[in-house]
Amino acid sequence: MLTTVDAFDRIGEENAFAVLARATALADQGRDIINLGIGQPDFRTPEHIVEAAVRALKDGHHGYTPSVGILPLREAVARDLHRRYGASVDPGLVMIMPGGKVTMYAAIRLFGEPGAEILYPDPGFPIYRSMIEHTGATPVPVPIREANGFAFSAEETLGLITPRTRLLIINSPANPTGGVTPKAEIDKLVAGLAAYPHVALMSDEIYDHFVFDGERHQTLLAYPEIRDRLILLNGWSKTYAMTGWRLGYSIWPKSLYESVRKLSVNAWSCVNAATQFAGIAALDGPQDAVAAMVAEFDRRRHIVVEGLNALPGISCATPKGAFYAFPNVAGTGWGSAKALASALLEEVGVAVIGGPDFGVHGEGYIRLSYANSAENIRKALERMDGFLRQSK
Ligand code: PLP
Repeated sequence: MLTTVDAFDRIGEENAFAVLARATALADQGRDIINLGIGQPDFRTPEHIVEAAVRALKDGHHGYTPSVGILPLREAVARDLHRRYGASVDPGLVMIMPGGKVTMYAAIRLFGEPGAEILYPDPGFPIYRSMIEHTGATPVPVPIREANGFAFSAEETLGLITPRTRLLIINSPANPTGGVTPKAEIDKLVAGLAAYPHVALMSDEIYDHFVFDGERHQTLLAYPEIRDRLILLNGWSKTYAMTGWRLGYSIWPKSLYESVRKLSVNAWSCVNAATQFAGIAALDGPQDAVAAMVAEFDRRRHIVVEGLNALPGISCATPKGAFYAFPNVAGTGWGSAKALASALLEEVGVAVIGGPDFGVHGEGYIRLSYANSAENIRKALERMDGFLRQSK
């Protein structure tokens, strides 16, 4: 019998994919399923982006590209970040990756080893913890609390740093909570990090376009004092409804870039060429589809929050960003949020994710993605209402 090394026994999962598989299986059996589980926009990739990829294929871009990505795309990333944030980014420090997830993998791989500690948000994107455990490093959860608006607390985060801490992962706007960490708190965090020069920072800003109520996203690129240890993760998946294209980027400190370039040569060679041309069209082309999508998410956000707060035993703080609601379900009488999530799918065909799939501090919550039509969201809320009233 074949056995694999222990590191693979420690790899976790992203349960959203398992829920998607189960929801699809039920739908295939003829059940009417409303999927509020998966975190991907329910929009098509804008047409001009698709056309750019088709054109690239027809023009013969069929070969390998530089493993770090084609220069015009890296320049487009730098231009976009300058346009939106006034940030100056050297295209020579931009890495094009097959999705935002791969930046996570690379950053955690660079710093993760037995004895190292890596701080990550809990509840948070489940892959952070999974990859940390894979490397043998010690995962140190940073609690993300409803009482704090699901924002990072600079004081609590800094208080968890030890001489063994190698990497701190932050994520705002956040999955699964929709929390946005205010600028004042990020200022405090960055100021506090001055005392810990041995700690690198990975800022996952994949939802940076999805900030509501007239607020602006605070990028970590705005702090020159940490540029020499900042890994910025972003990509096209959410902003341009391109989850299936597998295209992401990251900005690296000069001291790490060569290591990541070597990893890319070893692990994935490059992102497929046509997709990279699509990425240029996305960043340089019209942004009205993005604005329309964000406006639609905002409209649904109000429907979801209002609807959830009308359900028995559920209270839901208004998320400030991303496209998730993270209602508190402690009052429903269901001791386990995972059991509640599973019952909602099996009994009334509403797919949501149990909070514990995002970490121990997720118990008592479920995550709803509002990447579904307003009509379906309303229908799901009605089904949940009926279910909660009868199961009490
Ligand atoms: N970071 C966060 C917080 C996410 O929620 C996701 C996807 O759900 C990713 C990164 C990865 O995105 P990609 O599809 O680009 O790998």
